Formats: sequence, C-alpha cells, structure tokens
Amino acid sequence: MNSRQQYADYCLDIYGQVEFVPVRGNGSRLYGEDGREVIDLAAGIAVNALGHANPDLIQALNYQAEQLWHVSNIMVNQPALALAKTLTDLSCCDRAFICNSGTEAIEAGLKLARRYALKHFGAEKHKIVSFQNSFHGRTLFAVSVGGQAKYSQDFAPLPPGIVHGIFNDCASAEQLIDQNTAVVIVEPIQAEGGVRPASAEFLQKLRQLCDQHQAILMFDEVQTGIGRTGKLFAYQNYAVEPDIISLAKALGGGFPIGAMLVKQRYQDGLELGSHGTTFGGNPLACAVANKVLEIINTQQLLEQVIERSNQIKAYLTELNYRYGLYQDIRGCGLLIGAQLANLYTGQAKTIMQLGFDYGVASLIATPEVNRFTPALNISTNELELGLSRFTQAVEHFMANQA
Ligand code: PLP
Repeated sequence: MNSRQQYADYCLDIYGQVEFVPVRGNGSRLYGEDGREVIDLAAGIAVNALGHANPDLIQALNYQAEQLWHVSNIMVNQPALALAKTLTDLSCCDRAFICNSGTEAIEAGLKLARRYALKHFGAEKHKIVSFQNSFHGRTLFAVSVGGQAKYSQDFAPLPPGIVHGIFNDCASAEQLIDQNTAVVIVEPIQAEGGVRPASAEFLQKLRQLCDQHQAILMFDEVQTGIGRTGKLFAYQNYAVEPDIISLAKALGGGFPIGAMLVKQRYQDGLELGSHGTTFGGNPLACAVANKVLEIINTQQLLEQVIERSNQIKAYLTELNYRYGLYQDIRGCGLLIGAQLANLYTGQAKTIMQLGFDYGVASLIATPEVNRFTPALNISTNELELGLSRFTQAVEHFMANQA
C-alpha cells in the first residue's frame, strides 16, 4: 500500500489528492516514493517560487535555525524587522503585520479596515465590498468575503455586512460602493476563480470610488505578489495603488508566512492589543522570506518571468492549433490559465491528473481551467520538458474523446 492509499485512514480526506507521493524535490523536479520524476509546473500552488531545495534558501534557514527559532511578539526579532523594512521600502505601503498564511493576512487587513472605519466614521461604515468568483482563503470570515458560495454556504450563519459585486464591471462597483463602505477587496488577477485578470479600467474605478467614499482599497496579492506577474507586486502592472496588500505563498518560497501591508494613514486601524499572533513573524520564516525577496527582486529574474511566460503561452497556443482544446489562454507572468472549449467543459482535473501519469504537475483553477504556476526561476529546458509531457497528457485525453 502506498502512502496515498493510507491517507484517508488518518487524515481528513478534504483534498482529493493525486496518486503521486513526492518525497524529495530539487529545482523544478519532484521525485516520488515510487521513484518517478515529475516536472513541477505548479510549485505548490504558486508557492515554491525559487524551486525545491533552493541552496540559498536552505542556507538562510540553516543559519537562522542555529541562531533563534522563536520569541514571543513582546520582543522584536531582527529577521522580522528586516522583512518589514524591505516590504515597506519596496511597496506603496508603510507598515507591515507579519503572519503565517494568506488567510491570516486577509483577516488582518479586513479587521484593520473595519476598525479604522468604526473609529473614524462610526459603526454604520462597516460594509465590505468583494467580488463574485473571488477567493480569499478558508476561515469563516475569508470564505464569507470570498465570492464563491460553494466555500461558504454550508457554514452559515455567515458574518454580515459583506456584499459581492460583478468582477470587472464598473457599474456594479458603482452601485455597491457608498459612504457605508469600509473596504473594497479585490484580486488583481482572480487566481482560484479561473485566472481572470482585472482590467486597468476596473481597478482604476475602484480606486476612484474608494477615494470618493473614504473607503480603503485592499488588493489580495497572496497569489499574484512577489514576482509572479513579472513585477514584484501585481498592482505595479496597473496605474493604481492599493491602501492594503495581503501577501503569502511565494513570500516564503515554501516556508509558511503571510504579511499584511498598509499605508501609514490607516495604521491606527490596528493598535496595541487589537490584533496579534503567536507564530507570526517568527525568525525562521522571516529569514527565508528575506532571502526570497533578495533573489526575486532583481531585474534579471523579473524579466525572466516574462520570457518564461511567453514560452508557455506560445507552447499552449501551438498545442491548441492542433487540438482546439482551449477557448482562451490568459494570465500574466507565470500565472497562466487555459480555459477549456465548451465541448470539454468540466474536464480540467482529468487532464491535470493525466499529466502526473506522464510526469508533469500542474494545477486547475475551477473545473474549466488548466493552470500553470511554475517556479519563477524554472529553466527553459525544464519548462520545455514539462510542457511536452503535458502535451502527451493532452494527446491521451483527446484520444479518449474519440
Ligand atoms: N487569497 C488568495 C488570492 C489565494 O489564492 C489564497 C490561496 O490560494 C488565499 C488568499 C489563502 O491563502 P492561504 O491558503 O495561505 O491561507
């Protein structure tokens, strides 16, 4: 019996895992307990931004492991301070709250925004405007704010004061954002919701409406941040600055960490005693994140992201000439989605699973979209090999359709 077969005997069976059980990784390759090698075009879920077992990250982690693992947040620790300084220097924000995951960064930002509105404008101003199809994490607050009922409906009653507009629809935003709005939260690219980029016009409209109604604009950059789109932050692709940014995933390169960044003028939304975390900002995670940022925030690596992005898009477009499998290939940098043609609706997971049989790991984003989020430093050769294996999976899939 392999580990996959034993899983449900001991763990809550909530992930629908594939058969492949990785035991080791190196760069963009995973090695399974059955000895198989798989090219990783998923990088966790857009997490291992510098590949597996990156020597620089190992060195940073090992160094820190010999210094200090944990102190409570009643003491300052140097790696956390350095990380907060770097993140605020590099972004449009001025203060950081470091936590352990994307959901925690979301929770912190929303709590800050509500408390800021309460303090400065009164209890009426508590509305959270989010968008249909969005994903912001899995706590009760996060699934309530997220715009996909399938994640929240079975957990009612849900926290009130949350509405969902239509993504990329300026008129819908105009209708919902008013004087009682505390915060508007949006993903610059709806990642889990099918790799759907926001239009510049839409984000600019949100900025204008937030300014008009004294509401906070929060960008969820948990999946798009830290180089994934070819810029350090996805907002830099648009002429729009958010007031709050949530980060996680790539920030730790595989080590759990999250961060909520905020502009100075809103910092009193969270004050002494109003929020906190035991593990957030722990020295190990921050030491790794500092190294991740040092490596990713270089012109060379960010330009490489765009080159690899073009390579994937060109490959998928070519594949599509042959098979007509997809109706749209979209995304930015190394967050790419290929949406199935109507004829193949709902079958993205089947193709993804077949990929593992041919030695390539990828993702889906909704049952209609195959998603590719490889490490930002993947080599052209590894990418080519992974995509050729994906093509074999597609060929197998198409043969079964006949
Ligand atoms: N926000 C976005 C945009 C995400 O993609 C995710 C995770 O996929 C989250 C929030 C939640 O992050 P985490 O799973 O680290 O809590």
